[in-house]
Amino acid sequence: MKTATIVGAGLVGSLWAVYLSKAGYQVKIFERRPDIRKAEISAGKSINLALSTRGWKALDAVGVGDEIRKIAIPMTGRIMHDLEGNLTYQPYGKEGQAIYSVSRGGINAKMMDIAEEYGNAKIFYNEKCVDVDLENGIVYLENTENGEKSAVQSDLVFAADGAFSAVRYNAMQKLDRFNYSQNYIEDGYREILLPANTDGSYKLDKNALHIWPRGRFMLIALANEDGSFTCTLFMPFEGENSFETLTSKEAVDRFFKKTFPDFYDMMPDIADAWEDHPLSSLAIVRCYPWTHGKTALMGDAAHATVPFYGQGMNCGFEDCTVMWELMQQHGDDWDQIFREYQRLRKPDGDGVQDLSLHNYHVMRDYVADPKFLLQKKIEAHFSEKYPDKWMPLYSQVTFSHIRYSEAFKKGQEQDAIMKKVMAQFDDIESRWNSEAVENAILAELK
Ligand SMILES: Cc1cc2nc3c(=O)[nH]c(=O)nc-3n(C[C@H](O)[C@H](O)[C@H](O)COP(=O)(O)OP(=O)(O)OC[C@H]3O[C@@H](n4cnc5c(N)ncnc54)[C@H](O)[C@@H]3O)c2cc1C
Repeated sequence: MKTATIVGAGLVGSLWAVYLSKAGYQVKIFERRPDIRKAEISAGKSINLALSTRGWKALDAVGVGDEIRKIAIPMTGRIMHDLEGNLTYQPYGKEGQAIYSVSRGGINAKMMDIAEEYGNAKIFYNEKCVDVDLENGIVYLENTENGEKSAVQSDLVFAADGAFSAVRYNAMQKLDRFNYSQNYIEDGYREILLPANTDGSYKLDKNALHIWPRGRFMLIALANEDGSFTCTLFMPFEGENSFETLTSKEAVDRFFKKTFPDFYDMMPDIADAWEDHPLSSLAIVRCYPWTHGKTALMGDAAHATVPFYGQGMNCGFEDCTVMWELMQQHGDDWDQIFREYQRLRKPDGDGVQDLSLHNYHVMRDYVADPKFLLQKKIEAHFSEKYPDKWMPLYSQVTFSHIRYSEAFKKGQEQDAIMKKVMAQFDDIESRWNSEAVENAILAELK
């Protein structure tokens, strides 16, 4: 039987283990942390993620989707909270389309169960990868509890050990002509758990992603299954309205009371919970090649991105789809599979990063700009009327399987068209849904 080693039993590693087991490989997964299924994880200690169409496809292909559906909460749109507590609802897509809130710990634990149920996958915990012989498929490990060192050889090695991948850092980066860049953005994030009401009910509509946009910073909230919400405050590390100004309980209390009054009403003890979760940073990591010898990088290890499009996990799951499709085409010819995988997938790794950065700037700088909002309104109207001619960028990324690289390119073209058309009308505010505007867009599309 062919053997494979996966480094990291995170979201991508545990899903990829299911694929490989199904394909008849004997799989060993080495995970640095203890078994999260046995560890005491209180709700909210684990952040939740938005799962969308690409992720579902990868889960459904190996029959995992239905298990995850049981713990997924649909979010059909975003609800914006302004300073006065007024709410504005924006659907994400067409009727029936939704993204899904899933708990990172929950989905990870379910996939670990499924990977092990297939019989050919075994997860070893507290085993930290310290090095890899890329060409010979040897993974060097150190037990985090007793310091014992070991080495495991297999036919294939998959590095799914996340944004700060040890495989990439300790082995790939030592290769000649390996390209690598790591860029932190100015913002960090801190999570906050908004508890359920005493009767277990939700304090906000659970079927929406809640956003409190405040220009240079924002708070978001996604529902958990137990009635609570995991909220995340994204904000610069430094400057006015930054994490460096929120260093005392009084400052945190004052800030939330003034900036997120309706949130503060639901959680007046926010300052007490402030230190429960650490302040974390956000980076984009680009590298190439993604494969060498018997080893391939997958998920964040290959293309870590910032979370502003909610696509990091979805993209990692799509890596599994692509690798799987290549296995169908090339059988056991892994040289060919790895060559094709990185050739095909690298532009989309770059694509998802470009899209995420683009959305970071949109959310930061444009979301409150009336011109930008008008542009989105015209686009939505036009796309509803001519769905075969115009799919909004958000839908291309979230509700389709169009390659990320193509979606990014198409999005830029659409943006240029809209800007050109809007500039043709002095009275665009009053004529945004007129036939003349429609015809001008149609003319640009020809
Ligand atoms: C704030 C935030 C919000 C996000 N929201 C979304 C979202 O809404 N939707 C979305 O699609 N994505 C989202 N993402 C991105 C998503 O979390 C990642 O893309 C996803 O977790 C990547 O999965 P992975 O398996 O590649 O890496 P990880 O989930 O990081 O898993 C890596 C695993 O490897 C293990 N490991 C690390 N080093 C070693 C080692 N040396 N030896 C052995 N094991 C090791 C780790 O313990 C971990 O279990 C978000 C990210 C952040 C930070």
